[in-house]
Amino acid sequence: MTPAWEPLVSIVTTDLAAITRGRSVTESKLERLAATGIGWLQANLSLTPFNAIADPNPWGSSGDLRILPDMGARFRTGKTGSATPFDLVFGDIVQLDGTPWLGCTRTMLRDALAALKKATGLSVIATFEHEFQIFDGGFPSSHSLSFEALRRADPFAPQLMAALEEAGIAPEVIIAEFGEDQFEVTHAPTDALNAADRAVAIREITRETARNTGWRASFAPKTAPLAVGNGVHIHFSFIDSEGNPATYDPARPGRLSAKAGAFCAGVLRHLPALTPMTAASVSSYYRLKPHSWSSSYTWLADQDREATLRICPTVSIGGRDPARQFNIEYRAADATGNPYLSLAVIIRAGLEGLNANLPTPPLVTGDPSVMDETALKSLGLVRLPETLDAALDALLADRIVTGWFAPEFIETFAGVKKAEIEKFADKPADEVCDTYRKLY
Ligand code: GLU
Ligand code: MG
Repeated sequence: MTPAWEPLVSIVTTDLAAITRGRSVTESKLERLAATGIGWLQANLSLTPFNAIADPNPWGSSGDLRILPDMGARFRTGKTGSATPFDLVFGDIVQLDGTPWLGCTRTMLRDALAALKKATGLSVIATFEHEFQIFDGGFPSSHSLSFEALRRADPFAPQLMAALEEAGIAPEVIIAEFGEDQFEVTHAPTDALNAADRAVAIREITRETARNTGWRASFAPKTAPLAVGNGVHIHFSFIDSEGNPATYDPARPGRLSAKAGAFCAGVLRHLPALTPMTAASVSSYYRLKPHSWSSSYTWLADQDREATLRICPTVSIGGRDPARQFNIEYRAADATGNPYLSLAVIIRAGLEGLNANLPTPPLVTGDPSVMDETALKSLGLVRLPETLDAALDALLADRIVTGWFAPEFIETFAGVKKAEIEKFADKPADEVCDTYRKLY
């Protein structure tokens, strides 16, 4: 029987609270809309995750924009268990004449990549590792990382992998993680813009697949104050203009090429100011604490999961080439951060390091949380902001970082974050975590 409906395709953008928002059309209209997009408005960028528009904001009730679909960024799958296919196309927010809009984070990532390429010839390969927890699963308790922990959720894991595969996300591994009812899913490395698109699609496909089972998948950074954190680990590496790997140099400390080292130095230098963008909620800062395998200092280390920038291992089994595997992982991120903006600021900060030709930071071993001030200082280690409020202050104080954006964008970003800070002022941590648990 022919269904009574025609499937919809959604043209979407990701906002400053990392919420996917957009408008939907019947599939047969997409081609026609490709050139001019769908309507959008400036004030939408001031939406908080609590269904309010941050006030004050620079936009008010006036103005109109378009979201132009990027037809190469369509993610479609019929395998989430929904009645109609999951189908979305990521778009760029533009003005009515088609010129880029200052608040489009996808454009910001594209521009950051272009700036890096122009200055250095380098392109970025990236991948986002996502951790999440299932709620309302009604599972019997199970062991961390165990075979049984994955099997008791069957067929959730194979169904999720099939949906991600069909959507073109190239999923790699699904894990029953360390935390209670916690899972992790990874995807194959790809060019940075595609990786950020995939990150958004992974979150939505995972939530939808869980929802269709009667469960809730939460990517909130801390679903309870003492719960294991849900991180988003952003892996990156470089290729040069000839397509050759440019991150690896076995002759240097940590095997980091001089360019990759300068990039890391730039990231660490600006890290406190980047945190409100990559760890963007009040609850994010319950996760960024020592001894949680997240990150808490401006710290580069070789294969240490407490570091903010972790140099990842390579495998030499069967004579495999390390140069193409070699990558660095940024761990101070979670799914309350917009993936385009997160990657854009990492790249902008890295480019500052490259432009200033900064030396590779020291590879730190040990535990910064027990080092005295002198030791921290000699290694250049600074504690990351401990609240969203402090992180926002660090951003607003770093003129180089704010200088990457239009002033209206910074004003909008600060407005949304202040709304989150004010909502939770004086609220206990368990209430904060519970609210974000349900929202993400
Ligand atoms: N759950 C940890 C986090 O919050 C990460 C654990 C791991 O290394 O996979 O980032
Ligand atoms: Mg993990």
